Order: sequence, then C-alpha cells, then structure tokens
Amino acid sequence: MTIPRSHPRYVSLTARDKLVEGWKNGLVATQGLIAHGRGEAFDYLLGEVTTPEAEMATNAAVCMLLLAEKPVISVNGNVGAMAAPEIATLCGLLDCPAEINIFHRTDDRVNRLVEHLEKNGCRKVLGSDPDARLEGLDHARALCSMDGIFTSDVVLVPLEDGDRCKALKAAGKSVITIDLNPMSRTAVTADVTIVDNLIRSMPNLIRVIKGYQKRLLLGGITPEKLKAELSSYSNDNNLKDTLKKITEKFS
Ligand code: ATP
Repeated sequence: MTIPRSHPRYVSLTARDKLVEGWKNGLVATQGLIAHGRGEAFDYLLGEVTTPEAEMATNAAVCMLLLAEKPVISVNGNVGAMAAPEIATLCGLLDCPAEINIFHRTDDRVNRLVEHLEKNGCRKVLGSDPDARLEGLDHARALCSMDGIFTSDVVLVPLEDGDRCKALKAAGKSVITIDLNPMSRTAVTADVTIVDNLIRSMPNLIRVIKGYQKRLLLGGITPEKLKAELSSYSNDNNLKDTLKKITEKFS
C-alpha cells in the first residue's frame, strides 16, 4: 500500500514499512519489530519531534566523532533496514567503517546486512568475519572485528542494548547512542545519548557534521573548541531534561 504524504503518521508508517520489508528480506529479526514498538511508544510521548535536548546531544556527538582517531558505526538489523543510505553518508564523511553486530546472529543475516549496506554505498562493512571478542559478554554480540570495533576509540551505536553498551564502555570506548527511551540502560550508560527517532536523527547528524566540517575547514572553529564544547556537555543532565519535558507535557 502507498502511504499518502499527507498522512499525519507518514514518517512513522514509512519506517514501519522499511522494517517489515527488512524482515521479509532477512535483515531484521522478528524481535527487532517488538523493539521498534518500544521506541515508538517513547516517540509518542516526545510528540514525535526532535527536542532541543536531542539537538544538544547531536552537537556533542558530532564533536566526539570529529575528534575521534578511529570511529566506527555499529549496525544492527533495524538500523540497517531503516537507515542504510544515511549510514553510508556518515561513513563517507567520517572516513570510517560500518560494522554489523546483531544479537540474533546468523551468518546469513550478517551477510545480507553487509550486502545491503554495500548496495547503499558503504565502502567498508565489517562484521562477517569477526576475529575478536568484547570482554564481559557471553552472547554473539561479543563478536567483533579487530580492524573495527575492537580497536576503535569512539563507537556510534544506535539502538543498542544495555549489556553491550556497558561492555563497550568497559573496553575503554566512548559510546554515542540514539535511543528513544531516556531511561534505558543504554541511554544512561552511554557518553552521549541522542533521545530521538533514528529516522530523524541520522539526517540531523549528517547535517551537523557537514556544518562543523565546513567551519573547521574555514577556520571558524578549532579542535580545541570542539573539545571545550564536548566537555561542557552532561549526558545525565540532558536525559533528566528530556524526562522532565515528557512529564511536564502530560501534567
Ligand atoms: P536496555 O538494555 O538499554 O535497557 P532495551 O532492553 O529496551 O534497552 P532493546 O530492546 O535491545 O533494549 O533495544 C531497543 C531500544 O531501542 C529501546 O530502548 C527503544 O526505545 C529503542 N528504539 C527502538 N526503535 C527506535 C528508533 N526507531 N529510534 C530510536 N530508538 C529506538
């Protein structure tokens, strides 16, 4: 069915369609559809808009990514199905790899995701041949690539689960996540949590990275300024402000 652009839930319904198509094509796990539902519930509470707090977190995330020596984007089934072209653009702008990392891991699904990202323009996609393990996890999400997540300093990992976020932190990584639930274990463990829908957040990240890169090039901003902006950011405060916004809306 074609969703008319005039439908008030056009963006949300289009995201659902992408997920269902991804599920049919073997990219998305059935459980991923349920996880998306949890996200949608929080998006409803947020009013399905990007908040000023999400914008602040996006700026901090961009500072962190531009200061990183070896960034990487960790991609699961839902993220691959909903945002493959945006992942390719981000990887190009940051000159970094994407790495497939999924909880319900099968070689077939990993290979389909690699192929899907490559088809959408990602030049380097890791994850099909893991040769390292993250400490502290006893499931398939521990598997990673020496050339990617294992030796990275900053990991952008949208829609993560709390255990792996903790394991990435314990391994010394700085973690940026995109998660609509400001109370999830991931949201409170990450260094920078963008509480926004992946669908809105990825284009925002691209826009802000391009803006900062232009200013870096023209001398309007320096790496020192990026460091200062990043150190003035508090993820705890940002999450508290986001929660306050949700509760005030309904009080
Ligand atoms: P945690 O382990 O961090 O407490 P969880 O058990 O809820 O979280 P999962 O079910 O693995 O974790 O992941 C789903 C998370 O992703 C949820 O926090 C959900 O709010 C979020 N999420 C789902 N869909 C989206 C989306 N489109 N954009 C942003 N966040 C989303």
